[in-house]
Amino acid sequence: MAAGVEIAGEHQGGDNRKFAVRLGDGAQVEAVLYRGDSLCISTQVGCAVGCPFCASGANGLGRNLELEELHGQVGAVRARGARVARVTLSGVGEPLHNFDAASAFIRESHAAGTPVTLTSSGGPTRNLARVFELPHRGLTISVHAGSEEVRARTVPRGPSLERLYGALGPLLATASQRRRRRFALAYLMVAGLNDGAAELEAFIERAQPLGVLVHLYAYNPVPTSPFSAVDDADYQAAYQKMRRAGLEVRRSSVARTRANGGCGTLVALRRPASPRPVAG
Ligand code: SF4
Repeated sequence: MAAGVEIAGEHQGGDNRKFAVRLGDGAQVEAVLYRGDSLCISTQVGCAVGCPFCASGANGLGRNLELEELHGQVGAVRARGARVARVTLSGVGEPLHNFDAASAFIRESHAAGTPVTLTSSGGPTRNLARVFELPHRGLTISVHAGSEEVRARTVPRGPSLERLYGALGPLLATASQRRRRRFALAYLMVAGLNDGAAELEAFIERAQPLGVLVHLYAYNPVPTSPFSAVDDADYQAAYQKMRRAGLEVRRSSVARTRANGGCGTLVALRRPASPRPVAG
């Protein structure tokens, strides 16, 4: 376990175990163990991307986590007796904004026999290209929009759709079928933000040529966000619309639809003036 990385608290929510992780400087991030052996860890304290529905980035970016702090989260959770069979860099932070540590973590974990997946808003796109060279098990790119206008609202400091698809198209076109299976797009449906028919159709039109899997998520409301969840009927209708258009689509897992856990629900605290006691 990396020096200075410790579990400050643990909360059980459904099948998930959520850990408050305190870093050496007092800053706090979160890690979530899904389905008993899949660990979601954080790559930054806060996040600069500023997605308005996300608790992780609600206060902007604090700092990047060091490589040792990425390994430290895994070590600290294992030290609590948990089995960690795989890791995903999908917690607090944008992994491509902390590319050196994230890529070293992926390589080292792969060498040690632990598969790693990651979730990214796609920028900077030069790092998106470099991810294609890494031994990861899957990259999910958060798109959450069909038009530039809505993309600018849902992923404010991520790359525009033009830049994103402009980078992804050629990369996927030259990837083998086996490699292409490791990439996916994510669309998080948020009521009143990106759940309109025209927006979904614009997303479908852009996504179709890529031939990759789409994860269609339903939003979990968080206290820092003014947004609310979509009706289940609208969510299921969007799923059918994408399927009818020929996309391969997966819906939110049970682990994600529970309030405790999932991108957009994790929290980062800057160095607290006086560390708050948390039940451990
Ligand atoms: S959803 Fe992901 S990229 Fe967006 S602010 Fe939250 S942590 Fe950052």
